Amino acid sequence: MVTLASAYQEAKTKLKESSSESPALDARLLVLAAANVTDVELIADSGRELNSSEVDLLNDYIEQRLSGRPVSKILGFREFYGLEFSVSDDVLDPRPDTEVLVEAALDYVSSDTKMICELGVGSGCVLTTLLKNTAESVRGVGSDVSEKALKLTRKNLEDHDVTSRADVFASDWLQSHTEQYDIIVSNPPYIVKSEIESLNESVRLYDPILALDGGADGLDAYKIIFSQVKKVIHPQSVILFEIGQGQEQDIERIATNNGFALIRFFEDLSGRIRVLAFQAKKDD
Ligand code: GLN
Repeated sequence: MVTLASAYQEAKTKLKESSSESPALDARLLVLAAANVTDVELIADSGRELNSSEVDLLNDYIEQRLSGRPVSKILGFREFYGLEFSVSDDVLDPRPDTEVLVEAALDYVSSDTKMICELGVGSGCVLTTLLKNTAESVRGVGSDVSEKALKLTRKNLEDHDVTSRADVFASDWLQSHTEQYDIIVSNPPYIVKSEIESLNESVRLYDPILALDGGADGLDAYKIIFSQVKKVIHPQSVILFEIGQGQEQDIERIATNNGFALIRFFEDLSGRIRVLAFQAKKDD
């Protein structure tokens, strides 16, 4: 007999043998989905038996996880900033670290904010979250070079009822942008090309390379964006970037060379600098 409790214990034991960095969490999420129960039911109704199709489904999920596929991509969704987002192999898996980018951007939202733009919008989790947490009058623009990613962006905006406030289109960074934005956010690809091979398999094999590969020094996207962004900003506009570990000085240098000044940085929960905020340098 397989109960919720025994299924969870067994899943956890199996996943401890995998490359998973969070076997207990992964086991819980897979059991909840396979048995279609909530967190509360898993505890309060732990003796409930799983029927054979639920057991088969759970075994299938565990097999997939053991082969390296991340939970979000097995289940097709992931929680980000308290909301649920559809994900697929065409977009970067939303990560808790990127919630720092949302927090930072929200800090710059004021009653004057009319337009927020996300470059490399992917699943749309950042743009959707920003729209959900700002006034109805705030509009969002999101672009991505990947048409496949944009399908998911549109789905997530739709699922969270913010489609009417957003404009989504294909663009190679700022190439197809024409409007002026108050706040620009981006979590661009920032992994050094030669380091991609050494990433955990759930990243290396399941996140699209386009969303990871930052070129030889990991900084390609920042260089391009800083060189193009002047046409879509006004003097008060703020540009916020998620960055990779230890990239802050290099990115500040790129910004300075393009006439921008670092105005603030934001750390993640482990105290690592995760987000940098920039403004155009005032003429002096
Ligand atoms: N945060 C991702 C990782 O470290 C990378 C995402 C990115 O390149 N923007 O795996």
